[in-house]
Amino acid sequence: METIMEMAAEEKREKKETLRMELESRSENEEFARVAVAMFMSRMDPTMEEMEDVKTAVSEAVTNGVIHGYAGGEGIIYIEVTIEGRELTVAVRDGGVGISDIKKAMEPMYTTDRTGERSGMGFSFMEAFMDRVEVVSAPGKGTLVTMKKQIGR
Ligand code: ATP
Ligand code: MG
Repeated sequence: METIMEMAAEEKREKKETLRMELESRSENEEFARVAVAMFMSRMDPTMEEMEDVKTAVSEAVTNGVIHGYAGGEGIIYIEVTIEGRELTVAVRDGGVGISDIKKAMEPMYTTDRTGERSGMGFSFMEAFMDRVEVVSAPGKGTLVTMKKQIGR
């Protein structure tokens, strides 16, 4: 016979929902990713503010993959969104150039951009608008940004 703990664990597993997307590395797809993630998370009944926060974070992560990871060239941006209870997880991955010094890259106002168009605030926005941001990256292998946020606290 199943214990109440097993039943609770089973219920939690059943409630896990996942969306996976593969987008070509193009700046137009940043808008698509942002809207798709917002649509998917709407079932969590988020506030407008929570939705805007997540959209901004997704936008920053995807834009980084397009402009830094693939440097405007061809490539695929992989996005995985998971809902588990009240927790939203968004993982954005590219197979681009990677980051050699992650700590430095995440510092506010740090940018390798030389055109003057970038302010180096992307990671700071992700950290401000999400509860947790984790970056795994290696030169030549690509970058994985995993962001988590509790919705409707
Ligand atoms: P902004 O986001 O304000 O337009 P930015 O993109 O330079 O400027 P961040 O998003 O904070 O600022 O990123 C900081 C730096 O980290 C970038 O300049 C780049 O060197 C590096 N970086 C970020 N994401 C990636 C990525 N996916 N692949 C390779 N390098 C990256
Ligand atoms: Mg950026």
